[in-house]
Amino acid sequence: MPVDTEKTKTESIKVGILEVQGAFLEHKNALLKAKEILQLKCPLEIYEVRQASHVNSSLDGMIIPGGESTTMSLFLKRNNMVEPMRQWIEDKNHVTWGTCAGMIILAKQNENQKKGGQPMLGVMDTDVSRNFFGRQVNSFEAEVKLSDSFIKVCPGETSFHGVFIRAPAVVQTFSPKVEVLASLTREEISEPVIVAVQQSNVIVTAFHPELTEDVRWHQYFLERVLRNKSDNE
Ligand code: GLN
Repeated sequence: MPVDTEKTKTESIKVGILEVQGAFLEHKNALLKAKEILQLKCPLEIYEVRQASHVNSSLDGMIIPGGESTTMSLFLKRNNMVEPMRQWIEDKNHVTWGTCAGMIILAKQNENQKKGGQPMLGVMDTDVSRNFFGRQVNSFEAEVKLSDSFIKVCPGETSFHGVFIRAPAVVQTFSPKVEVLASLTREEISEPVIVAVQQSNVIVTAFHPELTEDVRWHQYFLERVLRNKSDNE
């Protein structure tokens, strides 16, 4: 069920977006559009996250956008952000959403990870394949199938137009706590591919919902943030 925004006592929602590469503005605009659709009465404040001091407890939610996971990991390491981010994400008061490269750095395990490893955030019980769809298919668009648990929060159509850019996929999950939110059927792959999951307050999508007009994933994220705030009040 969507959260009854009239009833939540929330004064404001604060969302940080990790701004290392690209898509900050697209995510911001999509969040503002989702806020309108949800008819949220409280203000939505959006902040850039670029250094450790930005990763603070006043934020309710955080988006880790796409980009290049190695570059993002190095940026986090150089700016001493790996541990603050990990602690922030593991705090039950916070909701995190990683898209694409975000899905990669949030996974506990990465297939084809370089020897010596990258400084991954490693909070989800998932094994993620970095360039699952192969280098030759750099980019494609396809309908993904949304799970019932997603539809319960965002009622409506059961599919979503996914933009995949050198996209990863979840190839294995290690815990029943990981819930599938969306899957993709491809002719050349026998099983449906897992392209979005959630574990507790961490959501990841292999595709880029900030690049389409449909802002249901941003609605879903804001709903989670609101629900979390009202549960923890
Ligand atoms: N596959 C890319 C990586 O390894 C991620 C691509 C993306 O975020 N669009 O980081």
